[in-house]
Amino acid sequence: MLHALFVHVLLAAAPPSPAMTSTDRAESRIVATGAEAIAALVARHGDGQRARVERGVAQVKAMWRPTDGDAGALRAFLESQFVSDPEALASLLGRFEEALEALDGGFVEQNRALARHAVLDLGPMLEVDKLLSAFDAGAHVTDDLFDSKLAFVALLNFPLTTLDERLREGERWSRRRWAEVRLTNRFARRVPAAVNQQIARASAEAELYVADDNIYVHHVLVDGKRLFPKGMRLLSHWNLRDQIKADYATKDGLPRQRAIAKVMERIVAQTIPASVVNDPGVDWDPVTTSAVPAPAVTIETGAQPPTRVDPAREPDTRYARLLGTFRAAKAADPYSPTAPTHIARKFELEREIPEARVSALLKEVLESPLVPRIAKRIEARLGRKLEPFDIWYDGFRPRSRFGEAELDRATKQRYPTAESLQRDLPNVLEKLGFTVEKARWLSARIVVEPARGSGHALAAGRRGDFPHLRTRVGKDGMDYKGFNIAIHELGHNVEQVFSLYEVDHTLLAGVPNTAVTEALAFVFQARDLEVLGLATPDAEAQRLLALNDLWMTYEIAGVALVDMGVWRWMYAHPQASPAELREATLRIAREIWNRYYAPVLGVRDTPLLAIYSHMVSSFLYLPDYPLGHLIAAQIEEHLRGAKSLGAEFERMASYGAVTPDLWMKNATGAPVGTAALLGAAERALVGEEGKKDSKASAPPSR
Ligand SMILES: [Zn+2]
Repeated sequence: MLHALFVHVLLAAAPPSPAMTSTDRAESRIVATGAEAIAALVARHGDGQRARVERGVAQVKAMWRPTDGDAGALRAFLESQFVSDPEALASLLGRFEEALEALDGGFVEQNRALARHAVLDLGPMLEVDKLLSAFDAGAHVTDDLFDSKLAFVALLNFPLTTLDERLREGERWSRRRWAEVRLTNRFARRVPAAVNQQIARASAEAELYVADDNIYVHHVLVDGKRLFPKGMRLLSHWNLRDQIKADYATKDGLPRQRAIAKVMERIVAQTIPASVVNDPGVDWDPVTTSAVPAPAVTIETGAQPPTRVDPAREPDTRYARLLGTFRAAKAADPYSPTAPTHIARKFELEREIPEARVSALLKEVLESPLVPRIAKRIEARLGRKLEPFDIWYDGFRPRSRFGEAELDRATKQRYPTAESLQRDLPNVLEKLGFTVEKARWLSARIVVEPARGSGHALAAGRRGDFPHLRTRVGKDGMDYKGFNIAIHELGHNVEQVFSLYEVDHTLLAGVPNTAVTEALAFVFQARDLEVLGLATPDAEAQRLLALNDLWMTYEIAGVALVDMGVWRWMYAHPQASPAELREATLRIAREIWNRYYAPVLGVRDTPLLAIYSHMVSSFLYLPDYPLGHLIAAQIEEHLRGAKSLGAEFERMASYGAVTPDLWMKNATGAPVGTAALLGAAERALVGEEGKKDSKASAPPSR
């Protein structure tokens, strides 16, 4: 099957000449070579090896290009590199393990060294530092591994697998088999440089569009009234959404929330006048879409307003950019035989949870009977009927018992420098539940450094090298915000140490996906006050967090379904125009809204779910968010019940990068699911309702 696909690709690319082209001739020689090589290899290694030989030869041929060598070179390669002796095969796997650890780890070290001055707080930056930090030593490693034939040695001797096989059989596989699977997975696609460049270009264009999608909200007028302060500029969708959230804490926020929701609808439907995007000189009404020059006194920059305003709507640029990413991603399809669409690559190669299962998990959340019960809570807290933008309701966050200033004082005193955190790591880790010995062992493998930015955790790629914790420390010490982030990053670093140093095969180093590593980091972050010796969150705070968590997951689950629906539609209509994609997106967003949100929030037909900028520029990334919530709730619930958080964290993090379901089964006893998230929300609701609705008429909680 792999082979048939390869032929198809070659023929599709060949010129439409009745005569046999040179590509055709080379191809038919390669077909013959395959058969001859199989016969020769079976004759030499025995009929017992036939299945392995056939599979290996097909896997190599599916990726072999004329530039890799002619038919003679292919045959010589196949016959010299096939290994059948079990001991030799184990040694071969070991060689790859050693080599790739050295390569990957080396690239991490080189990139870290090059980016030092750009990311660390080491004094003034030179212009060249930006270029040094953008340099990626390992950027072409996959190409190089193919060009040097190393990738073909792996493909000839070890099996490529489909996600279906990994899910069906993975639980019975030995660890060594899993290491083989991870080795060949690296070579499941061989995308030509030109296609990768096309993807990078489309991605950059979409990112640029998204980064420039600013609305000057001081110039958004409803019924002639200015609702927002002078100079306020909000980036779609992040700032727009966050302003809706922030306005739950203000007394006069409702008209602003309604106005922003209208702006969002206009952006999605592309009925926003092009002239108001990113322009502080134009007043407009999102309800009527009328746009006029703004009075000069309202313009913060002091710039002059335009003399006239072009009323034309934005010409579907949003959807043109999205189509650009789709077409670029699709161009890689022929070079990924086991996952021949971007959708398949995203779910099967990257997420490793099938699309249908993700969809089913999301629907379990969307259809949960707990959701309308939470909606009732929100309605009571707001004292009004819900409106569509209330999917961003933000009032369940518990109030901190400590003031920001008090917390700042505590962390600044404790951590005047990055070195002081380095010295204190064993103590921090003991407070989080690690034994004295383990805390010391971990601390010796984490390097703390002062960051220019807010902080991050950089993994190591080989044993002997250490993960780095970059943390922000001001002149007068580390403030609480910096500390809170540092504890989150420390969670990443501890996972990185375990998942590299304690995993039995470095080919399996790491955890299955970002949702898992984020969940583990949040386990640390949620306990930051305990590290300071201040307090643990009380039962009321836990309840509010559980309700908030389900409501946020409910919101983002629908957004993810829209993203998935739109990618399905683009694959079914690859020739679509931006206008057709706009109409399809509106239809999909409204259908999902009407099915899962209208019954809860009471309004039909809003396209609000399609506002996320990730939809335009992030290549089907959005399902990772709701999955992240599910995985985080599941890990948190398991660790909360654990006797020793440190020991459990270590056991989970050192299991290696198998599929998320298998990893989660080992970690918590069950595959990825909704039970933990829904269970916590249900307990919270029962707890709240048990309090005899004492909160029913309370004002918003902040
Ligand atoms: Zn993180």
